[in-house]
Amino acid sequence: MPQTLLIHNLGYLVTMNDQRSILRDAHVVSTDGRIELIGTGCRPSLEGAIHLDAKGGIGLPGLVNTHHHMIQNLVRSWAPIANEPLYGWLKGLTPVWRKARPADARVATEVALAELMLSGCTMTVDHHYVFVGGSDGWIEEQFDAARQFGIRFHSARGAMDTTSEIYQDWMVEGLDAALRAMERLVDQFHDPSPASLSRVALAPVAILSASADLYRESARLAGDRGLRLHTHCGETQAERERALRLFGKLPMDVLRSAGWTREGTWLAHGIHFNDEEVAEIGRQKMGISHCPTCNMRLGSGICRVNDLRSAGATVALGVDGSASNDSGHLLAEARQALLLTRVAHGAGAMRVSDALEIATREGAKCLGREKELGSIEVGKWADMAIFPAEDLASSGAHDKVDALLLCLPRQVSHLVIHGRVRIREGQWVDIDLNPILERHRAAARRLQGG
Ligand SMILES: [Zn+2]
Repeated sequence: MPQTLLIHNLGYLVTMNDQRSILRDAHVVSTDGRIELIGTGCRPSLEGAIHLDAKGGIGLPGLVNTHHHMIQNLVRSWAPIANEPLYGWLKGLTPVWRKARPADARVATEVALAELMLSGCTMTVDHHYVFVGGSDGWIEEQFDAARQFGIRFHSARGAMDTTSEIYQDWMVEGLDAALRAMERLVDQFHDPSPASLSRVALAPVAILSASADLYRESARLAGDRGLRLHTHCGETQAERERALRLFGKLPMDVLRSAGWTREGTWLAHGIHFNDEEVAEIGRQKMGISHCPTCNMRLGSGICRVNDLRSAGATVALGVDGSASNDSGHLLAEARQALLLTRVAHGAGAMRVSDALEIATREGAKCLGREKELGSIEVGKWADMAIFPAEDLASSGAHDKVDALLLCLPRQVSHLVIHGRVRIREGQWVDIDLNPILERHRAAARRLQGG
């Protein structure tokens, strides 16, 4: 029996189609997860359909989060590193990870998914790289949590095989172990179908914690299995300086030699690149996961969003880990992207529509899902976030759509993923957050040593 969903009474439908149409008084019909009809005015009468009354709200394609470390929400606002830049901050987190176990990844993922979904996210990446005591169980728990929440989950399988002043032996897996674990995860969870809710990308953590061999071998494996590649790159000036000192090369040179400068690779942060590197990233149609809040929090710098986009790169959005954000509100991240670009280049440098595009269709493109997701169009999967058009934060707003980012970012009233209602009237359809938060607080207390 096909399942039909009728979403009606959309005051505004921000389609993000090629014309960037915004429809008024709109409705959307999906059957078995696929959008079949988009219309305005009088809604169709569909017998047996599930109805979702948007009550004049604003419908958007589901927001896409392309970079995160969910386990970090167990150490939000971690006082010992409150004022540290990236390397001091990373170093200050490692003692916490020594006590972590897969059940912590599970509950942290549940909390992260709840935050993301309430902020409009329907597809997310997590870049998990804590495998203390063995690689089994951690990401398996994350996929299970994602199934429970009904979100599209892309695991960027982190890996480190190089010790440093930040990461000692017990944090590092080793080359062969990491590659074998990556392959096992792909066998178990990577679904390449267009409808997929579950994918795996290969993601050595950064050039200072992963060897050239790990980069090269993961690129080879990605080529063999049709996977995407992800890593941190260009986050700080210190990374450039250390790369030059240790390898006699810049970070992009290391990636190029390992076969990483190609379509299907997306880089977290992408701040510190010279003009030639920006041109190359664009020419190779690579992606950048822009994480403005983290970049401001750690004082890392400002991503050259407009230069990268003009060069041909896909710039998407990431909330990054919850110990450097220290939240996971994706609509708020779009607001930060808008404001930070304006700080750097003036009020005309980014419109709300540009920031929403980065948060939706560019996110889908960054993850290789642009044919089936990222906009509301007939034939695509029904992933939608619906925000209230009238509430306290937006009261008095002239342009209701622009108010999504210019006013205080809100939570969704409804969220639909693959044609399934996950949040209705601001309430979870089948999730009880209270026991999750109780387990989360207990796990945080244990890790923080309290
Ligand atoms: Zn990160």
